[in-house]
This record gives sequence, C-alpha cells and structure tokens, in this order.
Amino acid sequence: MENGFFSVPKAVNEPVLTYLKNSPERKEVLETYKELYHSKVTIPLYIGSEKIITKKQANIAPPHDHQHTLGSYSLASESHVRDAIAAALSTRKAWENTSFEHRAAVFLKAADLIAGPYRARINAATMLAQSKNIFQAEIDAACEFADFLRFNVTFASDIYTQQPIQGSGVVNRLEYRPLEGFVYAVTPFNFTAIAGNLCAAPALMGNVVVWKPSDYQMFSAKIIMDIFEEAGVPTGVINLVSGDPKMISDIALAHPNFAGLHFTGSTEIFKHLWQQIGNNLSTYQNYPRIVGETGGKDFIFAHQSAAIPTLITAITRGGFEYQGQKCSAASRIYLPASIADEVIAGVIKNIKSFSIGTPEDMNNFITAVIHEKSFDKLVHFIEQAKLDEDVEVLVGGTYDKSKGYFVHPTLLKTNNPHYTTMETELFGPVVTVYVYDDKDWESTLGLVNTTSVYGLTGAVIAQDRMFIEAAANRLRHAAGNFYINDKPSGAVVGQQPFGGSRASGTNDKAGSALNLLRWVSPRLIKETLVPATDYRYPYMD
Ligand code: NAD
Repeated sequence: MENGFFSVPKAVNEPVLTYLKNSPERKEVLETYKELYHSKVTIPLYIGSEKIITKKQANIAPPHDHQHTLGSYSLASESHVRDAIAAALSTRKAWENTSFEHRAAVFLKAADLIAGPYRARINAATMLAQSKNIFQAEIDAACEFADFLRFNVTFASDIYTQQPIQGSGVVNRLEYRPLEGFVYAVTPFNFTAIAGNLCAAPALMGNVVVWKPSDYQMFSAKIIMDIFEEAGVPTGVINLVSGDPKMISDIALAHPNFAGLHFTGSTEIFKHLWQQIGNNLSTYQNYPRIVGETGGKDFIFAHQSAAIPTLITAITRGGFEYQGQKCSAASRIYLPASIADEVIAGVIKNIKSFSIGTPEDMNNFITAVIHEKSFDKLVHFIEQAKLDEDVEVLVGGTYDKSKGYFVHPTLLKTNNPHYTTMETELFGPVVTVYVYDDKDWESTLGLVNTTSVYGLTGAVIAQDRMFIEAAANRLRHAAGNFYINDKPSGAVVGQQPFGGSRASGTNDKAGSALNLLRWVSPRLIKETLVPATDYRYPYMD
C-alpha cells in the first residue's frame, strides 16, 4: 500500500508509421513476416500459470495462401474450460486487491511493448494470419491496441476520481469494485486490437477474465499473450481457451460466478449468447453485465452538393479497405442522380487500379477474405446478383480460391432499395449503390433509416449545411458513429468512441469510460463521525 493520490500519464494516440520504401519499419516488418512465415508455432491454452499444449490441434494458415501452414493452436476440452474458470477465480482476490497504479502499470507497459519491441511482430502476425495489408495492420494491431491500453488507464483514473459530495458530519466514498466473478471475453477475427482490448479493459478495472479468441485470430492472439506476460500481467488474470465456441460458451455461461460477457462478433451469435444468459439467470450469483458490439450495414448518403472527389474516396476506402471486413465498412451507398454517373465512374476507376494479392507485396491494397466460408458466402451473393433483374454488376464479380480466398472488389447497382445486398451484412468487398432522384432526398433519408436492422456507422457527404443538419436529425438513431464528409470507418480511440445500437450492439463505446463503467460495481461507503445516540428526532420534543 503506497500513500498518495497518483496521476497517470496523459494518453496520446500512437503515431501511425508510414512504411515508405526503404524505411526501417518496412524492412523490419518484412523480415519478421518472413521469419514467421517460415517457422511453425504451436499455441497453448493459457490457464493460470500453465501453458497447455493439447493433443487435439487445429491448423493455422494465411487466408491468402491457404495451403501453407503457420502452425497450430490447442483445442480445449471441457475440463480445460473448467480449469480456466477456476484459475481465474482463484486469482480474483489477489488481483482485486492489487492497487490501481500497479494494474495500470502493467497495461501501460504492454502498450509500450506493442508500440516498441513487439510492433513488427504483432503487425506481421496480423498481416500473415488475418490478411491485412501493412497499413491496415499498423492502424489496428500496433496503434489502436496501444491506444486502447493507454486511454483506458486515463479513463479508469477519471472514473475513480468521481466521488459523491460530503455531508455534514459524514464522510462518503465511492469504491469502484470489480465484478464479483469472472468476465468472459469472446472476440472476432477482424481486429487484433479488439481482441486484446476485450480482455484488457475488464482486467484493468480489477476483473479476472476467461478469453475465447476467434479461430481466425489465434496467431496474433498468441502474441497478445506474450506481450501481457512480458508486461507483468499476473498469470490467472487473463486465461485463454481456444476451440469449440459453443462448448466453451456453454460451460462459461452456466457457471454461477459468470459475471459479465464482453463480446464482439456477429449479431446472431450475440443474440444466442444473451438468450443463454437469460435462461441461466437463476444460477448466477449476480446479474451479469452484457456488452456486445455486433454487425452493421453501414451507409454513405451523398447529397447533390457533395464534393465529388471526397465522395469517391469515401466510398473506395470506406467500402473496400481490409476487403470490406470492418464492422464499420460502407456497404450501401445512396447517390443523387445528378452526380451518380460521375461518382460511379470514379469508384470503378479506383477499383480497377487496385492491386490484389499477398500483404507481403506492399503494392497490394487488397488481400484475401478471412476464410472459405466467407469466400463462399460472397460468391453466392455475387452469383445471385448476376441473375437478378433489379441489380447489375458494375465492376468485379470475379473470384478465385485456388491459392487464397480472393474476391475481386465488386460494385453493384440496384434500382431496388431493399435489394438483399442493401440489407444483409456481407462482410466482404461487395458494395451496392442505389441512385435516387435529387428532389427525393428527404424520403431517401427515411429509407436509409429504416432499411437495415443495424445502427452502427454511417456517413453523409455534402456541402449544404441545411442538408447536413437535416440528415443528422433524421438519422439520429441510424448510426452510433455518424460521419460528415468522411468514410464511416477508421474510428480512433479517444477521438471517436465506437459502437452502435439497434441490432449492432449495446453501444457501450469501446475506447471510452462508458465501456469501463460496465466492468465495475460501485460500493458506497458512508462513515458517520459522531453517530446519533438517541432514536428521537427534535420535532418529537
Ligand atoms: P463471429 O460471430 O463469427 O465470431 C465472433 C466470436 O464468436 C468468435 O470468437 C467465435 O468463435 C465465437 N462464436 C462463434 N460461434 C459461437 C457460438 N455458437 N457460441 C459462442 N461463441 C461463438 O464473428 P467474426 O466473423 O469473428 O467477426 C465478424 C463479425 O463481427 C461481423 O458481424 C462484424 O460486424 C462484427 N464486428 C463488430 C464490431 C463492432 O464493434 N460492432 C467490431 C468487429 C467485428
């Protein structure tokens, strides 16, 4: 116990490195990529202080080179899952009693390790096994992850300083306790930073965690665990179990000490987990916290006053960066007829200029989609579009999975604002355009608002200020992250807290104090200095 009210370092966003030709960072990341490509890793389960390599292993392959093996990861049995929960619970008291400055220090150290000695490794792993180009890996695995860890320390410190007022003769304190149990973190493939943050955010607030990463993010998950270990996160605070998601979740969610779910992934899985929690409610010691950030069908709405180069760039980057595999990726575009042809021509020109292939070749803007299931799903929608009368394929529409899961960026145009690709989350490089009559902009905003079940991100591109205000009002609940004259993706921690409502999630805004508040259970402590000694009140005399 150290005496003092300590302050924490002021968080600033990690600068994004450029990886220009001949830069030292480019050389280092490519060397690390090669080293990882040519070695084989065997990833254990992390249960308390044990690293367990199971007999049953699953293969890890780069999506852009699926016949190559990077190694394998361990598949947990039911008893491993129970052991992971037990390890977390046996660490709970000690971690809960660890003072904030020490909890903060390990995660600040993790951030510095990511930004420094582990930068090339975590970026190269994300390029290799999640098929991100170097820029997409850098903004995710290095910068966003370090930002989450650093900003969360600041937000936690701000939360702890929020205290009740004092009354006469009493002292009031609000203690921000961690939850009484363990937090179960279930994470998606598409962001290394989200995977790390979903464990680290509850742990920073004093919670213990059982983490089930995505099968398609295991390669960088191992590096996250290496970093946490080197940073000094005590064993048992974050326990990793990989394998059958249903089996692992069934056990975690049936445990009486399950205290919270920190989920990012698809809407369908989240709804299923929520339902399961509801069914198990009477077995829990506490009402669990449920935080889930899920799917999206994100829009760009252009007004006739839009600056055309801004709009073309927003559609190109917003729709196709990381092969459209961002929950925030633009996938339905509304263009006014007066500028539609010019905008479409500009987007087609950009798409035709994309180079596609392995992320190791830094000329490539587009690489593969994550797995065969995703490839097959995208092919299904593309082939259906070729048959349907109310939609045409403007560019793309080709694909090849012989070496990697490559889907050529595809632009569709429909005259049906409810065409399936205007409503369904595809999670790939397929963008659909709907052209409206300029004078119908108000009713088309109504369409934007009601077409999809989601409410994650959206953008309006316009110079007309009256329109911008009207759109912001009309689309108030259509997007949790609303962008004006920008693409709807690329949220930066601390600057644009991220999340959406409707079917897109609980909107607890990852990378903000709002999220951290879900991982505490405040205790109010009132101390009376000179307590009453007579039950009678003065009015009774
Ligand atoms: P996913 O739903 O397939 O998987 C997410 C996690 O759930 C994985 O760990 C997976 O193994 C697990 N899972 C799968 N089936 C399960 C089951 N039956 N029981 C318990 N767990 C199960 O999602 P994904 O393909 O990894 O990621 C893409 C999805 O995530 C998209 O829908 C995207 O919009 C969403 N996403 C949302 C955000 C956001 O902030 N809103 C961010 C990133 C991704």
